[in-house]
Amino acid sequence: MTPPRAALRALGYAALRVAGAALAGALLGLLAGHPWLGIAAVLAAYLAVQLVMLYRLEWWLQHRSVADPPEAHGVWGTVIALIARLHRRKRFHKLRFVQLMRQLQQSTAALPNGVVILNDEREIVWFNRMAGQLLGLRPNIDLGLRIENLVREPQFAHYLEKADYTNPVVVRRSSPSEIFLSLQLVAYGDGQQLLLAADVSRQMRLEAVRRDFVANASHELRSPLTVIAGYLETLAHDPALAAEFAAPIGEMRRQAERMTAIVRDLLELSRLEQTDERAGGTPLDVGGMLALLRKDVLARAQHPREVRVRAESAATLIGRESEIHSAFANLVDNAAKYTPAEGAIEMRWWVDSEGGHFAVSDTGIGIAAEHLPRLTERFYRVDPGRSRATGGSGLGLAIVKHVLQRHGGSLEVRSAPGEGSTFTCHFPPERIRPAASVVVAPRTENA
Ligand code: ADP
Repeated sequence: MTPPRAALRALGYAALRVAGAALAGALLGLLAGHPWLGIAAVLAAYLAVQLVMLYRLEWWLQHRSVADPPEAHGVWGTVIALIARLHRRKRFHKLRFVQLMRQLQQSTAALPNGVVILNDEREIVWFNRMAGQLLGLRPNIDLGLRIENLVREPQFAHYLEKADYTNPVVVRRSSPSEIFLSLQLVAYGDGQQLLLAADVSRQMRLEAVRRDFVANASHELRSPLTVIAGYLETLAHDPALAAEFAAPIGEMRRQAERMTAIVRDLLELSRLEQTDERAGGTPLDVGGMLALLRKDVLARAQHPREVRVRAESAATLIGRESEIHSAFANLVDNAAKYTPAEGAIEMRWWVDSEGGHFAVSDTGIGIAAEHLPRLTERFYRVDPGRSRATGGSGLGLAIVKHVLQRHGGSLEVRSAPGEGSTFTCHFPPERIRPAASVVVAPRTENA
């Protein structure tokens, strides 16, 4: 970079001034008979002036925030003006930065949610007031500590372990008073993370009230329904019943059966929701279970002609038997319900590096793509009339989803109208145990 012209000019003038002063000194010295002495005296005076300027500049630099810059001309004037300009610019940027920081701090402090900034080691770098309140973090003292050492709830530890932060996790804190917190990690920058915390106690309490209400209502409905269904059964088999009542009584029995199925499924759902989030369990012989499910399908008054079982692995699944059976039975029951008599159903169990998988495929009516994301919602039916006619409660897939969630699994649905459906339950590898000792040959059963 070339020096600016003004600076070069100032330097040129300064050199001229030195030369002029030396000349004047030489002339004065000549008059006194000592030209060198004259030059030396004038240059010494010049040097003294420069030293004074240097001293004033140094003093001003030390006190520049309170003092005005010294008056100077020539090179000194240019240098001081440049320094003053740099100083002003720096002060402007600093002020803007401080203002920005203050605004940022004020806005995050005013947030109704907690925010914690974590570094790549998950150590706390900063947190707002709400995070302090919700998570019990102490200002200054807890900075630099790892978040998992301060938020020690098992659900949070599990969330961190899973390393899938797409959805928040709800944790229950019991001290100082019971609150429910929704916690979510958001990655940003170079490995840093934001931990967002919100108090969801109100929603959780409302949810608990709703759950209790559904459970109590279903429970209360069960006994009167049993009585009604019992009397209808007796009436239906009464030889003295007038012929014209046979059809209405038959319809009433079907509706009572539907209501019983709904109440049963509602109770099952409430039970699943009320117990522990994670189900433990025992090793289950999936192959054996599938063989029994096949028998159940064949025992139905109407069933698809072909019902195949392909148990490709003898590995067991760790789970709660009643829940797993209920989930698998719901899927198989749907396949049987929505597949015509000339169609086929196949149940398959296999294990690979990603875990265990149970799939039910059918050649039935299939489901249009727009319905797939909503299938596991309670009471969601593609064709309500058809579902009711088949005695469906509309809760089967909601139960399946819940059971799988409690076993760390997930449900995958592939279907196309007229081409049949495949519902696959995926279980993580930690839920799979290799077969005890003897390797059982893969079992295939055909109807
Ligand atoms: P339902 O008791 O009505 O069968 P589910 O929750 O088990 O309720 O299923 C929800 C809806 O998904 C059903 O009403 C039906 O429309 C659709 N469905 C489920 N399984 C199948 C299948 N194998 N083939 C076609 N449609 C299905």
